[in-house]
Amino acid sequence: MVQPKDRGRKQKRVQTPGGRNVLRIIEAKKGKAHCAECHTALRGVVTGRKAFKFSKTEKRPEALFAGKLCNSCRIKYVEEALKVKTGVKDLNHINITYQKYVTQILNQIEKMEKR
Ligand SMILES: [Zn+2]
Repeated sequence: MVQPKDRGRKQKRVQTPGGRNVLRIIEAKKGKAHCAECHTALRGVVTGRKAFKFSKTEKRPEALFAGKLCNSCRIKYVEEALKVKTGVKDLNHINITYQKYVTQILNQIEKMEKR
């Protein structure tokens, strides 16, 4: 009997080496990773079943917010952070969705300056 958790899954009839026809559950394919801001597909990010073969550093690029944001969005946030850093803009006048990333970038800059 099919387990209740598997009832909604896609099934396929497969012939076994012994000659029996058996129903097998097909695992759904995982989609690509998307940017949190503009939802474009991220390049260089491994997803799905093959992901376990790779180490953490091989699964996504090693740039700031890589695997979360696309290049154009990252550049936009860094520019906003630099505006706050230089005093051109106030942190409260930045779009509220940007503020989370901008504060993280500012913290990164502070860490780099301490070294
Ligand atoms: Zn984006």
